[in-house]
Amino acid sequence: MATAEADRPPAEPHSHSPGPSPRGGFLAWWNGIPLYWRILVAMLIGLPVGLLLGAEGLPLARLRGLVLAALEYPSRVILQLLGALAPPLILIAVTHVLMTTDVSGKKAARLAGLLLINTLVAIGIGLAVANTIQPGRWWTLDQPESKEAIKGLDPLTVVLDNIPRSLLGPLGDRQNIIGVILIAIAFGIALRSVKDRKLARDVVELAYELLVKVLHWIINLVPIGVFAIVAFVIGTKGVTPFKSLGAFIIAVIVALLLQTCWYLLRIKFFSWPRPFAVLRGMRDALVMAFSTGSSTATMPVTYTCLKEKVGLREESASMGSLVGANFNNDGTALYEAMAALFVAQLLGQHLSFFDQLLVVLTSVVASVGAAGIPEAGIVTMTLVFTAVGLPTTYIALLLPVDWFLDRCRTTVNVLGDVNVSCLLDGKTRSEPVRPATETSAA
Ligand code: ASP
Repeated sequence: MATAEADRPPAEPHSHSPGPSPRGGFLAWWNGIPLYWRILVAMLIGLPVGLLLGAEGLPLARLRGLVLAALEYPSRVILQLLGALAPPLILIAVTHVLMTTDVSGKKAARLAGLLLINTLVAIGIGLAVANTIQPGRWWTLDQPESKEAIKGLDPLTVVLDNIPRSLLGPLGDRQNIIGVILIAIAFGIALRSVKDRKLARDVVELAYELLVKVLHWIINLVPIGVFAIVAFVIGTKGVTPFKSLGAFIIAVIVALLLQTCWYLLRIKFFSWPRPFAVLRGMRDALVMAFSTGSSTATMPVTYTCLKEKVGLREESASMGSLVGANFNNDGTALYEAMAALFVAQLLGQHLSFFDQLLVVLTSVVASVGAAGIPEAGIVTMTLVFTAVGLPTTYIALLLPVDWFLDRCRTTVNVLGDVNVSCLLDGKTRSEPVRPATETSAA
């Protein structure tokens, strides 16, 4: 959320750890530990449980079957809940930006163009790397029984299907991301002209806070889902799947590094600052992005570094970091597209050119709608999967590694804002403001 975020403390599910509370009991103590530690502990417990369940000649085979069946559900429930939050989060985030951002038409068009090019390049890099390394081919999953996968849709049907048939329809079970965005655009523009704009803004911000609060609760359940999915997968298929996940991590990191090279090249050729001086000046913001997993929490630091350390004009720094932070999540777009291809490869499904095009389009929209908070990408990813007919239950496989990849993609999201700010600043440096004494002495 653009302007409002700058002046109120942003939501941070990872870092909302108040520290161990002696009075709150085990749950408060557990939730006080940073999320990534909780996920690591869950994985470490899930590993031996899975090995035990998968061991040959285990007595009580019936009990084993029951335990495995029970372990399949937690991650499914968590994903269902995350998926339920995605459409309203996108609706509120996009509505808020449109009703509060005041950028002139020409500048808005230039900004939109820069953002779109970066996002399309990010998705292109993601798909190219995933098609080359093929991380999902390192292990093949059984085909899903219900042929929920790849529907083979024709483009016209997709377009018509995405035009809302009712106002609440796109927010419902058939989650239709383009429909949600269309409604959000209409609401955002309409709310710009209501009489009491402050009231409208307060209502939208309240709704956003409410959704983020519920999101925190669900994210607190993620370690349980990770424990269950690790134990289930190892218990039923052994450790081979995790080799594939290792290949996926490497593929995502390679793609994010390539995207970083793209940013640096664009800065070198189309703006005045030197690329490595920019990286040096932005160190605080980049480290903060990696350590919090939240580009929104990092936004004030991004803005300050751009202005004070890199030396950009105030206008470019604020447009790139404050406005860009809402729409510009290239790392998230790249990750969502790669995740869709990875799962399709795991399932042995071929995504046709049109399917991949659909992945590109929905990833653009899903990344625009992703809030700048930890794990938001996994929430909107359900929409990309739904659009191309991939079973969303397989997103659970990514949960054990998402905490780490989230930090990597958040850093690239912030770098994307930095890139746009530099490009907006142009090829000439603004005149440094000289202190009054120096000016009069001259
Ligand atoms: N954590 C990311 C961000 O704050 C969003 C995501 O989950 O992809 O930018």
